[in-house]
Amino acid sequence: MRFLKLMITISIIFAGLFGDYVVFRSKYSESQLFRAAADSIVHATIGLLSAVLFFTNSLNIPLQTCIYYTILCTVVSSLIDIDHVFVAKSIRLKDLTNLNQRGIFHCTTFWLVVTTILLVYSYTVKKLNTCILTYMLILAFTSHHLRDANRRGLWLYPFGHTAAINKYVYVILSAVLPYVFAYAYVCTKQLMNVKHYYSHLIETV
Ligand SMILES: [Zn+2]
Repeated sequence: MRFLKLMITISIIFAGLFGDYVVFRSKYSESQLFRAAADSIVHATIGLLSAVLFFTNSLNIPLQTCIYYTILCTVVSSLIDIDHVFVAKSIRLKDLTNLNQRGIFHCTTFWLVVTTILLVYSYTVKKLNTCILTYMLILAFTSHHLRDANRRGLWLYPFGHTAAINKYVYVILSAVLPYVFAYAYVCTKQLMNVKHYYSHLIETV
């Protein structure tokens, strides 16, 4: 398992560095369509790898559940960019790529509030599924926002934007955070006093 974790960690670093090169500096980067599609694929890939790395941390979650939540994290990681459509009020690529403001899903404080509410809810009602779902959302938005922050900083409404985050800082954080959140999940589970994944389901039968 250690080797697998190491390989996934390296894959996240590679996906960040190589992905950014392909999206922004390759010979195809001039094409807006290519950039938009490749950018979404890189976000999805990092989200996918982050979720897989999270679940390799011996969390005692059934495989099928891991697969469902990994798919969810992958989709959300990429779909965060859907708010470009809300801001542009258009689906034309030219409008979507020439925005001078960011949408709600790119607001880091928005996700911090949503995921905190969900964590408190899952803790209160002892719902492990909601807790895992929340950590998937946390993984999705942190990986997406950190990568975007390499160009535009983090948007911490109402405090404004941070400076752009160094590429190597964002890549290393993307590779480390799944371990941090897996540890946080174990701590949350202990606080909830749910010993086994199925125990909360058994209690409700
Ligand atoms: Zn984005």
